[in-house]
Amino acid sequence: MTMNQNEKLRYKKHLQLLQVGSEGQERLKAASVLVVGAGGLGSPVLLYLAGAGVGNIRIIDDDRVSLSNLSRQIIHTTTCLDSLKVESARKRLLELNPDIEVEVFPIRLTPENSDEVISGNWLVIDCTDNIETRFLLNESCAKMSIPLVYGAVFEFEGQVSVFDASRGPCLRCMIPEMPPDGALADPELHGLLNTVPGVIGLLQATEVLKLILGIGEPLIGKLLLFDSLSATLQTIRLNKRPDCPVCGQLDSHTKD
Ligand SMILES: [Zn+2]
Repeated sequence: MTMNQNEKLRYKKHLQLLQVGSEGQERLKAASVLVVGAGGLGSPVLLYLAGAGVGNIRIIDDDRVSLSNLSRQIIHTTTCLDSLKVESARKRLLELNPDIEVEVFPIRLTPENSDEVISGNWLVIDCTDNIETRFLLNESCAKMSIPLVYGAVFEFEGQVSVFDASRGPCLRCMIPEMPPDGALADPELHGLLNTVPGVIGLLQATEVLKLILGIGEPLIGKLLLFDSLSATLQTIRLNKRPDCPVCGQLDSHTKD
């Protein structure tokens, strides 16, 4: 497959990188990724993956655009108020890059549809804000050996990791059980510096590109912590739990 003149111009800066080049750019074009949530994290993730030329982008979100979203959910605009977020996001992505395919699912992820929505994707990007959906994504991804690029934000801080149960720990190695009701802060009741999901989303998008291109060291077995107030990034090690309720069991099945 050869690139046409427009593609050569559009991706010029990637083509100049030895680690990407035309082979890497073709790989990005062939890739299929699922972005779960088109909000604060999903906005930068989607915009940059579309800009990078990731060829097949799927988006799942059942929410509509509201005025209180716009300060940080920059994929949506004031003219999109009350539209479905997936529709508003699709429109913006195709304006940015008409050469990609964008498929949307205006539904909520449930235990019933999770495996079906997730299967067939090279990677899944967790841009949600609730632990139930995160657990669900982690379980389906671990079962299908699909890497899950995790991001989370709170007030002035955020964190990023890559959960790939076939190569390292999963989300449940880090958080084994569902926290009891009230143990986790309700994002609705807490503020958030609008740039924090931007930083975390771009770190997630960077991990996605690295994983697709097979370059660098992905954040497998590592949790990257960002604190905007002290302007620090810190990486801590995450270990695989032999008794993990999700990937511990998989291990014992695959052992020979
Ligand atoms: Zn695990």
